[in-house]
Amino acid sequence: MIASRKAVASHRRIVIKIGSALLVDRRTGLKSDWLEAICADIAALRTQGVDVLVVSSGAIALGRSVLDLPSGALKLEESQAAAAVGQIALARAWSQSLSRQEIVAGQILLTLGDTEERRRYLNARATINQLLRIGAVPIINENDTVATSEIRYGDNDRLAARVATMTGADLLILLSDIDGLYSAPPHLDAQARFLDIIPVITPEIEAMAGGAASELSRGGMRTKIDAGKIATAAGCAMIIASGKVDHPLRAIEQGSRSSWFSPSANPVTARKTWIAGQLQPAGELHVDEGARRALGTGKSLLPAGVRRVEGHFHRGDTVAILGADGREIARGLASYDADEARRIAGRKSIEIEALLGYAGRAAMVHRDDMVVAGTMQARQDREDSKEDAAHA
Ligand code: GLU
Repeated sequence: MIASRKAVASHRRIVIKIGSALLVDRRTGLKSDWLEAICADIAALRTQGVDVLVVSSGAIALGRSVLDLPSGALKLEESQAAAAVGQIALARAWSQSLSRQEIVAGQILLTLGDTEERRRYLNARATINQLLRIGAVPIINENDTVATSEIRYGDNDRLAARVATMTGADLLILLSDIDGLYSAPPHLDAQARFLDIIPVITPEIEAMAGGAASELSRGGMRTKIDAGKIATAAGCAMIIASGKVDHPLRAIEQGSRSSWFSPSANPVTARKTWIAGQLQPAGELHVDEGARRALGTGKSLLPAGVRRVEGHFHRGDTVAILGADGREIARGLASYDADEARRIAGRKSIEIEALLGYAGRAAMVHRDDMVVAGTMQARQDREDSKEDAAHA
């Protein structure tokens, strides 16, 4: 865990998320000077040996400006069309500006399934890693033209956090029009305090994130804190900083105001990172106090401790595990379909065969398939790394 700021360039691999409002002006379109400046910052990092990945928003905003669409909310098909027009212009702008720094850009468009389904995840990760290996800078965005509401991230903050965990980045920088986290919305509360170091994302920190988002960008502080949870759990630090200056990365390096989120002291490794970062668990297992304590000491979740089963899921799907107070305490892969889970909930493992007609696994969620908030065991992590090496 870092207790303070560290030089940006001392990181090995950095994901930089750029909000739409930084790149696109509602009236004049693309802010090319700003883009040129950040490309120079990226080049400076790369000459110091840092791998850089960019998650760039702005497709919809740019498409809107090219198509001269009126302000206000867009219908889904309108924003998809705007994204189709805008993304092509956005990618060209990145490619041209980076080439002036003698850097090759590669475009990657992702949808939720590319990070949530294990096979597609491994595939997307392999492509991104290959781009980095050949020295290109991946320019990543959500594939807004095909993503509909049920299957979309909708905000690039969480997408960027997933990219960071997927690629083993050690720093995620969220650049937007806000310089960091405040104890309350600064435009509403004159007493709002700025937080420069956030060692852990506690429920209090989460409560500080309101829902605010501007017309141009979808994410507010809420999605930035969600991104922080995903990234820090995987051992990746996160910075929220203003991108409203020219050379925003250089500005952070020179000590400009920003909020730093420390990485977790016990980062989970790839497979568990993937489980922990799943955005849409397919169901919920509500457990009793005894089970909650058992999970905290690294045990599997047995049917006996499950009080209620919610949702429709299949064996192997990710489920959230909730304590009596309704708070999520762990997340893992279910060993049973939802219907079977309902039948064996509250029963002893030795009864499973009689109840289901076959001898299934003793655990409803096995410890190897589970990530418990805040506790990880080094031994399991090592086993996971081995398994990931075998799968990759
Ligand atoms: N993917 C969207 C775009 O490029 C932006 C999403 C966001 O604002 O976070 O327009």
